[in-house]
Amino acid sequence: MTTLKIRKMPAQLKNGKVQYFLDTDKSILLNEFLGAKLSFSFTGKINCIACDRSIKKTFNQGHCFPCFQSLASCDSCIVKPETCHFHKGTCREPDWGQEHCFQDHTIYLANSSGLKVGITRGINPNTRWIDQGATAGIIVGTVKDRLTAGKVEVSLKKQFADKTNWRKMLSSDPEEVDLVGERKKLLEDLPDLVSKHLEPSASKVQKIKFPILQYPEKVKSHNFDKTPEVSGVLHGIKGQYVILDSGVLNLRKFSGYQVAFDAS
Ligand SMILES: [Zn+2]
Repeated sequence: MTTLKIRKMPAQLKNGKVQYFLDTDKSILLNEFLGAKLSFSFTGKINCIACDRSIKKTFNQGHCFPCFQSLASCDSCIVKPETCHFHKGTCREPDWGQEHCFQDHTIYLANSSGLKVGITRGINPNTRWIDQGATAGIIVGTVKDRLTAGKVEVSLKKQFADKTNWRKMLSSDPEEVDLVGERKKLLEDLPDLVSKHLEPSASKVQKIKFPILQYPEKVKSHNFDKTPEVSGVLHGIKGQYVILDSGVLNLRKFSGYQVAFDAS
């Protein structure tokens, strides 16, 4: 048995296939347990993922209330980048903002539960695509900072979905989408706002294969707050979900929870 503090699962792409680790040290490769019976037992202890204080409940995936209210990474502009307020001098942590929000951001199209548009910090969206359970993605181009990325996304949301239907994503592989064709159409008919800021880059579809033996017939989620003991046979891993024959577990949602993990 291993005691773990749950975090967003580190994942990496190896020859187009996703490898998931259960711990941040990457010592437990979860893929190796496909078909095995796993058990997770919540010990009742929760610690803030930012300051480590002991807490009773979490905010914004693993934070204590003070961190949720004071960290720039927990501000609402992280979810809605078009509301970036750095230029007003009101960034919660200007140094953090300067480092994270004033760098190239990537605009992409991906196929998670269907075609969607999204943005991500940096120039490599693989991690984002894995987290969304996308089976394919293509970079449209880059913009210079987060606020611009947010404005571009808002503009493109008029043509494309920007949300993943997680139940659908966990029920099947999505129908194939012609991402090269969709990208071409998008670039041919760009709104003015987008064409002013977007620098199109090389277009190559990244296919992503998730470790899945079997999709659930009905998606039912486990919740450590209601049922501390969760066990079942590992049928797959997709997005940040562990798919057991007894239900799915959104590990990221329980960031900061301490669990005892066992496999047989
Ligand atoms: Zn905290």
